[in-house]
Amino acid sequence: MSNLNIGVLSIQGDVHENILAVKKSLQKLGYSGTVCSINHEYQLSNLDGLIIPGGESTTIAKLSMKRYLFKTLYDKINNGMPVFGICAGLILLSKHVNDKNIGKTNQIHMDLLDVEVERNYFGRQQYSFESDVEIILHNPTKIKGIFIRAPSIKKAGKNVQILSKLNDSIIAVRQNNILATSFHPELTHDIKLYEYFLSMLKKINSK
Ligand code: GLN
Repeated sequence: MSNLNIGVLSIQGDVHENILAVKKSLQKLGYSGTVCSINHEYQLSNLDGLIIPGGESTTIAKLSMKRYLFKTLYDKINNGMPVFGICAGLILLSKHVNDKNIGKTNQIHMDLLDVEVERNYFGRQQYSFESDVEIILHNPTKIKGIFIRAPSIKKAGKNVQILSKLNDSIIAVRQNNILATSFHPELTHDIKLYEYFLSMLKKINSK
């Protein structure tokens, strides 16, 4: 397989932790590849896959518009580039976005992942928590999830595969080239989700 070129959208949020997790996963799987932070539109042209990290979805959306990244990002993902949206990244990718406190929001989002997401479902920053998560990656497996002002997926379309639930909340999904979680895997030492994401890239690149 050729060298993989993986980007982490570097507008705001957990960029560095995601870069480290991807590096670790490349090494563990023995794939050759590079990981870089993405701030400019021109950097998107040669990407094989992108992580949109957790942070604040309204800020990431506004600034990526301002930096002319939003439309190209949308086109690339719509054309099949693998993307992993984490927390705010999940919100940004979703079709329908509501907020637990204010209901319907007018925030900019990409309309690509066929889910209805509720922002801040698990409460404010002070109610952040860590939980064991059962998730179907290639097989059912257990990982740890860190939830920080995390969203919950309330409805998922028929092409969306539900990978994990916590009580009644859907917290991880896959729709073709889109992987998304409402929790932060980069804040744990467990890189299983990154390995899974890299296997999505590998599949698409070897076609
Ligand atoms: N609640 C944040 C938002 O709406 C997401 C929080 C996170 O990414 N940890 O963007």
